[in-house]
Amino acid sequence: MASKPGSVDDLNAAALVAGLRTYFRSGMSAELGWRRQQLRQLRSMLSENESRFLQALQRDLHKAPQEGFMTEVSALYGDIDHALKHLKQWARPRRAATPIVAQPAKSYVLPEPLGVVLIIGAWNYPLQLLLSPLVPAIAAGNCAVLKPSELAPATSGLVAELLPRYLDRDAFACVEGAVPETTALLEQRWDHILYTGGGRVGKIVMAAAAKHLTPVTLELGGKSPCIVADDADLEVAARRIAWGKFTNAGQTCIAPDYLLCTRATADRLLPAIEKATVAMFGADARQSPDYGRIINSGHAERLANLLDDGELVFGGQVDVDGCFVAPTLLRNVSAEAAVMQEEIFGPVLPVVELDDFSEAEEFVNSREKPLALYVFTKDDATADRILSRCSSGNACVNDCMMFMTAHELPFGGVGASGMGAYHGEHGFRTFSHFKAVMKRSNFLDLDLRYAPFNARKFKL
Ligand code: NAD
Repeated sequence: MASKPGSVDDLNAAALVAGLRTYFRSGMSAELGWRRQQLRQLRSMLSENESRFLQALQRDLHKAPQEGFMTEVSALYGDIDHALKHLKQWARPRRAATPIVAQPAKSYVLPEPLGVVLIIGAWNYPLQLLLSPLVPAIAAGNCAVLKPSELAPATSGLVAELLPRYLDRDAFACVEGAVPETTALLEQRWDHILYTGGGRVGKIVMAAAAKHLTPVTLELGGKSPCIVADDADLEVAARRIAWGKFTNAGQTCIAPDYLLCTRATADRLLPAIEKATVAMFGADARQSPDYGRIINSGHAERLANLLDDGELVFGGQVDVDGCFVAPTLLRNVSAEAAVMQEEIFGPVLPVVELDDFSEAEEFVNSREKPLALYVFTKDDATADRILSRCSSGNACVNDCMMFMTAHELPFGGVGASGMGAYHGEHGFRTFSHFKAVMKRSNFLDLDLRYAPFNARKFKL
């Protein structure tokens, strides 16, 4: 039976990869001019279809067009423009010193593309998390297959429709589908796999990659703490925390997962977070055109089951069938509560109140290393102490998520929150091999290193 266009079974997954590999071997994708052209085409795909992409995001996640633009489309324009600007510099050979024993020679490091790579996207930022890794994959001269998340079908379908119209079809493909299609893709031999999603599937990806010794970048998640010191500017903190937590209805891998502060700070901070949330989405977020929905009713139900884990400060309204969960704040939450075990990935913010601020570090360090860590304080020494004592993939002081805007910062997890990184030149490095080259001269072929050895050559 013929499979539907854009989906794969075992047989045509193998044929797809073989076709891309043949093209890769032609050397075309390594040409800098070709890479630039593909990046420009990717930009045109987005700019010429911007309103369709924003509509697709709205259909999948009820994302306000302004939010879709800010967090997905414009972030991609930034990635592409930055890559175009720096491509020549990233791709240049880097000189290295040649020791005296190897003189005369030239030593250098030559970035080379890896080959055919697989990019598996997640549903929460279904456009940005799929195409943002594609930018450095192209910049580094690779061919690629994209596997968008099946849980965001409007965005997945639109990428599958448009990608072949804009990018070189011999070098890029988009394969839609769920577990069977991803499984078929993972059975193939890739030169790199970049996976974004949860750790459970991350292990499946890594095990499949290990069979072929394929390197992986795993962009996972975790419970990102938000630590608020007693001296923090609470008005500013409240607004930024509410924004970080409730954007995309909390379905952001780097959203603050839980708040850590003293009881006294909680008494002042929590009303300010409520005020900031109402200012953004009104008293009934369901009526707000700017407030998102949960990706499906299964996830809405999962979140609904967490609401009894603390004392309700505000929110708590749920409509499972409508995929709505109100922005919710819970206080007096115990460290053992279910809401404090798994990543929440929704608009529920538990507050763990500390007797003393000094307990924050130990609390964070007794758990898996998070993808992001947030500290709000006016004291640089407090911030530096937490940054140096607590490991996390990324961190931000006095704000949430804003490190994502800096092209020169790597984005990636550590420990359970992932491995490897991308964005800007870090992405170029992820999708390149840095080949060590020495070009020797035929002049001066000293016989010192050749056997037979004797006392004239070596005195030990
Ligand atoms: P997921 O792991 O369920 O799915 C991600 C992808 O894996 C999808 O494309 C899906 O089709 C595929 N998949 C699912 N089950 C599979 C299986 N058994 N075999 C093979 N492939 C399979 O993740 P999700 O629910 O889409 O995302 C939520 C998680 O992702 C959260 O933990 C979040 O923190 C994390 N996340 C991380 C980042 C980041 O950049 N670090 C970004 C977004 C989300």
